[in-house]
Amino acid sequence: MPDKAPSRRTGRQLLAACAVIMAIALVVFAAGVAAQRLRIDQVAQLADLQAERHAAQLATELAQYDHLPEIIRLHPSIIDLLASPQDPQRIDAANRYLEQVNAASGSSVLYVLDRYGMCLASSNWRDPTSFVGVDLSYRPYFRDALRLGAQHFYGIGTTSGVPGYFYGRALPNREHLEGVGVVKVERLHTAAWPGAGRVLMIDGNGVIVLSSEENWRYRTIAQLPDATLARMRAARQYENVPLAPLGLELVERLGPSSSVLSLPDALGRSTVLAVERGLTGSDWKVVVLLDLAEVSVFRFWVQVFVGLMATSLALLVLYLLQRRRAIRIERAAREALARANSELESEVSSRTRDLIQSNRQLRETQDELVHSAKLAAIGQIAAGVTHELSQPMAAIRSLADNAGVFLARGQSDGVTGNLRLISDLVDRMSGITGQLKIFARKRPSVFEAVPLRRTIAESLFLLDEKIRRTGARLLEDYPDNDLLVRADADRLGQVFVNLFSNALDAVAGSPSPRIEIVARSQEGRVSVQVRDTGVGLSEPVLAHLFEPFFTTKLAGSGLGLGLAISERILRDFGGTLRAENTPEGGALFIIDLPMADAALAEAG
Ligand code: ADP
Repeated sequence: MPDKAPSRRTGRQLLAACAVIMAIALVVFAAGVAAQRLRIDQVAQLADLQAERHAAQLATELAQYDHLPEIIRLHPSIIDLLASPQDPQRIDAANRYLEQVNAASGSSVLYVLDRYGMCLASSNWRDPTSFVGVDLSYRPYFRDALRLGAQHFYGIGTTSGVPGYFYGRALPNREHLEGVGVVKVERLHTAAWPGAGRVLMIDGNGVIVLSSEENWRYRTIAQLPDATLARMRAARQYENVPLAPLGLELVERLGPSSSVLSLPDALGRSTVLAVERGLTGSDWKVVVLLDLAEVSVFRFWVQVFVGLMATSLALLVLYLLQRRRAIRIERAAREALARANSELESEVSSRTRDLIQSNRQLRETQDELVHSAKLAAIGQIAAGVTHELSQPMAAIRSLADNAGVFLARGQSDGVTGNLRLISDLVDRMSGITGQLKIFARKRPSVFEAVPLRRTIAESLFLLDEKIRRTGARLLEDYPDNDLLVRADADRLGQVFVNLFSNALDAVAGSPSPRIEIVARSQEGRVSVQVRDTGVGLSEPVLAHLFEPFFTTKLAGSGLGLGLAISERILRDFGGTLRAENTPEGGALFIIDLPMADAALAEAG
């Protein structure tokens, strides 16, 4: 599912890319066609201009000679000749006159035929190829001149073999036709073919009579019909020239006078543009051929240019689209980030609110717990104190009752004994309450140099009965000199009583109960180790050992204050109390105390 969208997008992009490529190809093609059309139009205009110029030039050239037969008709020598064609004197005069006029006008040959086509006089009468006396009745310029009055003709001279342009004109004398005056021009328009391209002059039958390409002369534009060929042979127009077609093929007709042709050349075929122009007063045509290879090059470069432009444009559009898309994506990402940020902020603030609330609840719960713990502790103390006191109080009550009985009986000794016992019990009770007082209210300590060994001995003395009851063996190890510590003697005694009493409780019931007391001094400090062979200190006991009211003993046997008080007393002295287990499994309590300095020792 998630990869469907990208693949659809890739498909769309591919389609768009294909469309763009096709559009570019179409534009390039259209531009090529338009460029070609434009260029061909330009070339056609140029060719048309050239053709017009050549046609005009040829027409002007021919017009120079067309009036000659008209002029000679009026000369007396010609008039006389036509009147008496057989008169040698008149022939000679006419010959000389024609020779003069021909030389002056620059035409090739100027001659006069009688009404049967026989040459009467000619400007070339001195030459071996003289026309005089030659029958030229088969020439179209003679026959058509008789019929129509005047005629143009291009052909190869039958006598001279030199091609030329013939213009024949009927020479009327008074009321009837007497002959035909003919002028031949051989050097027609051959000096130069100015302008671009190749030029052809074709006669009415489609034979190339003049061309800028010398070897195209007497080639035909198309295959001539047999009838035309026969007619031309009869007129001996081109004598025995084969009149083979040039091999032009029509590619496209562009207009009434212009077309694209394919032309054979040395490399095969080339494409040319042909534009034709008719010659005024004649069936001749001037054709200009311009090469179209340059048009293909022009088309190619236009296509390259348009292709580059279109591709650049497409790339630019693509770039702009991509940029717009990137900006859109970036904006969306920024918005998403801002949304996520604000969601995160609100989440954090809600969590913080929750946390504060749960903290408050926790504190409340904690307070409640502390309160309950305090209540429990008070209950424990109350239970302990009640238990401790209930026995002596019950004993006092029965002693007091008994004392009353003794008093009634007059046994004063019994009364005295009971009162002493009552007093002892009260002492014990005040001892219990005194302990509580020590813990509750701090009495300022009185520091002195306390002899350690003596204090320990006094403490052991107080526990004498308990020692005996448990049967514990005591091992004591001190330095020779009794060590003096800086402490309050009573309180230090209380600490030792506590530690020894606990040790005795721990070893009670063990097979060989033993308690070791070792004292040492080092660098102004004194350490006392109390080690027993009891049950040792378990993990949970070690964890809470010095906490007030922590006890493992049965109610009534201990309040759980001994170690807490001892630790606080030693801390007051600038010392410490630590507990651990011996390798053998018993408990080891280590007291660390400052040694009493000399001044204090003296005062003590
Ligand atoms: P109490 O003796 O009234 O219980 P303490 O503070 O003196 O109060 O002792 C706390 C607890 O520490 C005792 O209940 C006992 O479990 C443990 N304890 C103290 N000394 C020893 C010892 N030498 N061996 C084993 N346990 C001990």
